[in-house]
Amino acid sequence: MAVRVLLVEDDAGVAGALAESLHARGHPVTSVGRGADALHRHRDADLVLLDLGLPDIDGLDVLRKIRAVSPVPVIVLTARGDERSIVRGLRLGADDYLTKPVRLAELLARMDAVVRRAVAREAPAGDVVRVEDVEIDLGARRVLVAGHDIGLTTKEFEILAVLAARPGTAVSRQQLMDEVWGDAYLAVSRSLDVHLTGLRAKLDRPGLLATIRGFGYRLGRD
Ligand code: CA
Repeated sequence: MAVRVLLVEDDAGVAGALAESLHARGHPVTSVGRGADALHRHRDADLVLLDLGLPDIDGLDVLRKIRAVSPVPVIVLTARGDERSIVRGLRLGADDYLTKPVRLAELLARMDAVVRRAVAREAPAGDVVRVEDVEIDLGARRVLVAGHDIGLTTKEFEILAVLAARPGTAVSRQQLMDEVWGDAYLAVSRSLDVHLTGLRAKLDRPGLLATIRGFGYRLGRD
């Protein structure tokens, strides 16, 4: 499947080589060198490859701004060993990360996994899960509590959607991280707690999203 890639990378040499390799594999690439351009162009892409060190806007700010308006898959490109940026990137909603120099085979495998997960979470319209007065519209990616939209972030919604796919059933922490973050989950364990805290605060229904100690979580009471 051809993936329309928006490549955000200010190093022309790196960008040129990557774009050429992806083109050769049948993936159309739009290449930009500035964060501001990424914010204008991401709507036409199936996937964003985002370098964090950009000349005009910090890559993490670009990511935050894209995530505020779009669920498009984003793979972050970072310098080797830049663990703090990786964790922050995943917290802000990056789907995966790669350290530079990027190896083409690894990039293609990650792209494939990230795009597959993105397609899988596009549930058909009209698929609505109701638990007490919480209404989870999987197609519209919207959650109403007592009739009010509680404005979840992309990752908060995805966590809830995984749980809502099996209401009343315990889902392990590992499975939750795997479905929401895929291969990146090892770096993200603490980030899951942050998203869960935000999700619970917005739901404002104590006990509805239960912790199963030593295992995981469940949507719905005993
Ligand atoms: Ca750079």
